[in-house]
Amino acid sequence: MDSLSIGYPIDLHAHSLRSDGALPPADLVTRATARSVRILALSDHDTLAGVAEAVAAGAELGVRVIAATELNTESEWGDAHVLGYFIDPADAALEERLRWLRTKRARRIELMVERLNQLGYAISLERVLEIAQGGALGRPHLAEALLEKGYVPSYEGAFDTILAKSSPAYVARVGLTPLEAVELVRTHGGVPSLAHPGTVVGLEALLPKMVAAGLAGIEAYYGEHSPEMTERCLTLARAHDLVPTGGSDFHGRGEHGVDLGAVFVPPETIEMLESRREPA
Ligand code: AMP
Ligand code: ZN
Ligand code: FE
Ligand code: FE
Repeated sequence: MDSLSIGYPIDLHAHSLRSDGALPPADLVTRATARSVRILALSDHDTLAGVAEAVAAGAELGVRVIAATELNTESEWGDAHVLGYFIDPADAALEERLRWLRTKRARRIELMVERLNQLGYAISLERVLEIAQGGALGRPHLAEALLEKGYVPSYEGAFDTILAKSSPAYVARVGLTPLEAVELVRTHGGVPSLAHPGTVVGLEALLPKMVAAGLAGIEAYYGEHSPEMTERCLTLARAHDLVPTGGSDFHGRGEHGVDLGAVFVPPETIEMLESRREPA
C-alpha cells in the first residue's frame, strides 16, 4: 500500500476500459485516490463513454474528474496525439464525430486481424472484441490476444515485433490530421494540448501550425521524457504561449506508461488550462 500512496495530486492523461485501458472508469478513479491523485483527466481515445461513471466515482471519493479525450493522428508528422480537455459528454455533434473515429479504429483492427491470420497468427476478431469489452479498439487489444496465445513473450514485446509499424501486420491509422484534431476539440469548446510530443516527427515545424489552429497546451511532463525533453517542451511552451500540461498515460496494461500520479504536474496548470477555454 505504501508504494500506492506516493502519487502527485494532478494527472491529466489516463485511459480506462472504455478505450484501451484495463480498468473500468470507477476502478481507475479508486486507484487514483489510492495514489493520492485529486484531479484526474479521463482521456480515453475517441470516446467520452467513461466520463459519467468516473465523475460519479470521483464525487464519492473526492477526486475531480475532467472530461477529456485523446485523438490519435498518424501522418507524415509521425504520431501527433491531441488531448482535448473540458469537453461535454452530452455534445451530440461531438459524439457523432467520435463515433466516426471509433468506426475507423474498428475497421483498422479488423484489417490487422486479417493480416495476422494470413501471417499464421490464429487470433480471432471475436476474442479481440471480448478483450476490449466494448472499448474503443486499438493495438493494445491485439497485443493481449497475441500474448494469451503465446505468440509474444510479453505484452510490450508485441509492439516491438508483430504489431510494430514495420511489421507486415501493421495497418496505418486513417482519420484526422493533427490540425483537424485541434480544430475538432476547439469547435466543441475544449482546450487542446499536444500529447507526448516526442512521438511527433518535425515537432518544431508542426507546432506553429497547430498553435494557429488553436492549440493551447503541450504535454511537457510525461513519464518517458528525459529532463532534456521536458526542458525542450517548456521552451516551446514559452515560445508559443502554450500551457505545459502533463500526465501518466496510465493504461493498466503491461508496463507501458507510468502509474497514476507518477508525473509531477504544477498546481497552477488547471487554472491556466481553464483560462484557455473560449467563451461559448
Ligand atoms: P494504436 O492507437 O492502436 O496504434 O495503439 C496505440 C496504443 O498502443 C497506445 O495508446 C499505447 O496504449 C499502446 N502502445 C504503443 N506502443 C506501446 C509499447 N511499446 N508498449 C506498450 N503499449 C504500447
Ligand atoms: Zn492508449
Ligand atoms: Fe497517445
Ligand atoms: Fe494516451
